[in-house]
Amino acid sequence: MLNIVLFGPPEAGKGTQATKLLEKYQLIHLSTGDILRAELTAKTPLGLEAKGFMDKGELVSDSVVIGMIENKIDANAGAKGFIFDGFPRTNTQAQALDSMLRKKGTPINLMLSLEVDDEELIKRLLLRGKDSGRADDQNQSIIENRIKVYNKDTAPVIDFYEDQHKYRSINGIGSIDEIFDRLCKAIDSVK
Ligand code: ADP
Repeated sequence: MLNIVLFGPPEAGKGTQATKLLEKYQLIHLSTGDILRAELTAKTPLGLEAKGFMDKGELVSDSVVIGMIENKIDANAGAKGFIFDGFPRTNTQAQALDSMLRKKGTPINLMLSLEVDDEELIKRLLLRGKDSGRADDQNQSIIENRIKVYNKDTAPVIDFYEDQHKYRSINGIGSIDEIFDRLCKAIDSVK
């Protein structure tokens, strides 16, 4: 098993890199943002509850996203491993993920953190807003709130994995292939 947390602020490039990584390493991609958006499109009660938080750039409650991830892990019992994208986003989520995986005897191998500065992020997010159609990408104050929430609630998750010697900082500026190479080197060094 190879379990990877792909970490970094909104629009650091996690989704793009996750797609390339799961092909190369044959992993299952679990993106809490994608799962929440699917719930929203299907207008499930969970999706409708999450919408209010997502539209403001706030985090959805820990218990909701932890439950979602647990279901997906259970539904993919035969997987070679997982790429967690957009999760864990708080220390509570990181602890919950650890205990879920510990029970299965397949811990996180690495936490790869894509580093991109705030100015570049806002530029990328506003650009994406023009064609992604996502409500939370359209408005500068919502985008700034997502970055604020990231710095306050999510960035501390780095310490959680650093304490376990699993954290690797990856330069998130460069071409898609350059960044992909950096990620693969880090993964291959622990495989
Ligand atoms: P981005 O990385 O661009 O911020 P995501 O697709 O990962 O986008 O997430 C979009 C929104 O979904 C977040 O702003 C948040 O409201 C919600 N969300 C996604 N993952 C989580 C999570 N692990 N915990 C809480 N809320 C989440």
